[in-house]
Amino acid sequence: MLDSEWWTGKLKTKVEQWESQRRQMVKYQLRNRGIKDERVLAAMSKVPRHQFVDGAWQDLAYRDRSLPIGYNQTISQPLIVAYMTQAAEISSEDKVLEIGTGCGYQTALLGEIAQCVYSMEIIPQLAEQAGRTLLQLGYQNIEIQTGDGYEGWAENAPYDPIIVTAAPKQIPQPLIDQLATNGKMVIPVGTWSQYLIVLTFTESGLVEERTLPVRFVPMRRKALEE
Ligand code: SAH
Repeated sequence: MLDSEWWTGKLKTKVEQWESQRRQMVKYQLRNRGIKDERVLAAMSKVPRHQFVDGAWQDLAYRDRSLPIGYNQTISQPLIVAYMTQAAEISSEDKVLEIGTGCGYQTALLGEIAQCVYSMEIIPQLAEQAGRTLLQLGYQNIEIQTGDGYEGWAENAPYDPIIVTAAPKQIPQPLIDQLATNGKMVIPVGTWSQYLIVLTFTESGLVEERTLPVRFVPMRRKALEE
């Protein structure tokens, strides 16, 4: 009895510590640097980022940096994740397509804000691991598919918005074709030098806005690897 009380007390403290780290992250890394969308801030205050990274990295999960997630891939720094999610201007009725599930952290944030999320990941082990984490956390509005996101996920198109977290040299045409009218695509484009592009499909055509310089892993092409 005493033992279990001691453990409960200790676990609670750890949970509180993570919560406090999340609050600090939201205040100093996001709010103070211009992230204003309350839905994004609320989601980032809630989603346990540490549960998406390997045990060895958990203590650094809420720091202002990217972290390795295995297979030479990384989870982006919190500010970039927040910036991209804010730029996508998501509402609670939206159907989102995400390319590059990775560890599934951003997928969870999208799941908090949007109605449903379709996410594609080219590395099967990452897709599986992300699926497990998201299931454990209870998300029921997220579907993950292993595959080459360059081609999009035509079956459920059109999407608003589309968020891409691996950088192609140019914006993939199939993704443009799967964007809803008035929809937005947030995507890093380039090779060594990359910019985060926000593409809006207006009634009078595509409008491209070049925002931050960024450094994402390159978008891989399944067709080229086979
Ligand atoms: N949002 C992710 C970031 C992962 S990094 C996270 O929070 O963890 C980018 C991811 O895109 C990697 O997991 C990589 O395997 C994946 N990726 C690269 N090329 C891809 C492609 N053509 N289709 C789908 N996923 C791809």
